[in-house]
Amino acid sequence: MRCQAITTLDRTLADAFRAARWAKSGGVVICPRCFDGRDVVPYPSAQRRHLKDTLRWYRCRCCLWCFADRYGTVLHGSGASLRAWAQAALLPPKAEIRTWSPGEPYAWLKELRTRLEGTELLPAWQVELTRRGWTFEKLRHASAMEIRCSRSTTSATKT
Ligand SMILES: [Zn+2]
Repeated sequence: MRCQAITTLDRTLADAFRAARWAKSGGVVICPRCFDGRDVVPYPSAQRRHLKDTLRWYRCRCCLWCFADRYGTVLHGSGASLRAWAQAALLPPKAEIRTWSPGEPYAWLKELRTRLEGTELLPAWQVELTRRGWTFEKLRHASAMEIRCSRSTTSATKT
């Protein structure tokens, strides 16, 4: 059961994403609807069950809009996990992936990467992930280990 909980990996990835997501406003969370950052407060996380990747929810007290870290980025509404997106952000050209084995969803990660290309988020996110010591191979390995772990302890599928 321990493995199913939010892990250190998820927390680290969420920290890196948040830092990149709000880099443009100097780390201040800005309401995507009224573009005001003065009265944005954390939204009670207990009311949001799908906080498994530790990204945060906020509430703007100016316009009463509730939004999460993903909102306003290409990640919003994608259904892909933050781990998958982070791997896509660090994805090297196929030729450079040493341990890639057949059947792995390279095409899918490539598709996520294509959506990230050209956004302000991508370079900022790459910097934050690299600063925390992540490479594509390292992240892929860490994710694979945890997925294996959660599958062996419960029947639930980890996303
Ligand atoms: Zn607002």
